[in-house]
Amino acid sequence: MPRQCLVCGRTLGLHERHLCIWCASDLPFTYYWEQAHNTMANKFNGVLEKFREEGEAMEYSYATALLFYHGENPYKEIPRAVKYHYNISAGRFFASLLGRYMAGARQFRDVDAVIPVPLHWLRRRRRGYNQAEVIAGAIARELGARLLPKALVRRRSTGTQTRLDAASRLRNVRDVFRVRRLPEGLRHVLIVDDTFTTGATLAACYLALRPALGPSVRISVATLSVVDSW
Ligand SMILES: [Zn+2]
Repeated sequence: MPRQCLVCGRTLGLHERHLCIWCASDLPFTYYWEQAHNTMANKFNGVLEKFREEGEAMEYSYATALLFYHGENPYKEIPRAVKYHYNISAGRFFASLLGRYMAGARQFRDVDAVIPVPLHWLRRRRRGYNQAEVIAGAIARELGARLLPKALVRRRSTGTQTRLDAASRLRNVRDVFRVRRLPEGLRHVLIVDDTFTTGATLAACYLALRPALGPSVRISVATLSVVDSW
């Protein structure tokens, strides 16, 4: 089987990995890791704000993604390959790239633990892996942080929620995640998923983790791609 470019299908040369040089030179980077405040982080904090208790102080959460995901853009094949086509190697490759950028960013340098959004155990068994865990592992390595794949459990699968807005989606997934095991003494936790759409799933993980971590631990989020539909 010849190796092919994930994005355009061109046969890859010996020194090309996952992408041909043409597609690699034109990746739709967000550069959000360079911006403490960005559209994705504003959206995520906006979702959390709706669930803030009266009088509760809430620190601004940092958020970044590697790539924009547009409906028509062929680069969406990168997160799709990781999620649906068992391309774990591509997942590690692109997540490492994001991790290296994040390691150079002031707001992510002190991350000491990385927590993937868990799949329901049945779905994980069917698929054989959790794509969020693959991405989280590569980011943790680049940041020199611990990977905590058992920190959260998902109690049930949630169906597609494409017709719901972020707040309704979050109400749907609010109680799906439960904290299972967390070490003491963490300062900055990063929750990782494959794609950021409305932020509801990541917000549900945040809301499960917050009482267990306490108010002094910073919680940020990172994904491989972010749906570009602001
Ligand atoms: Zn290509």
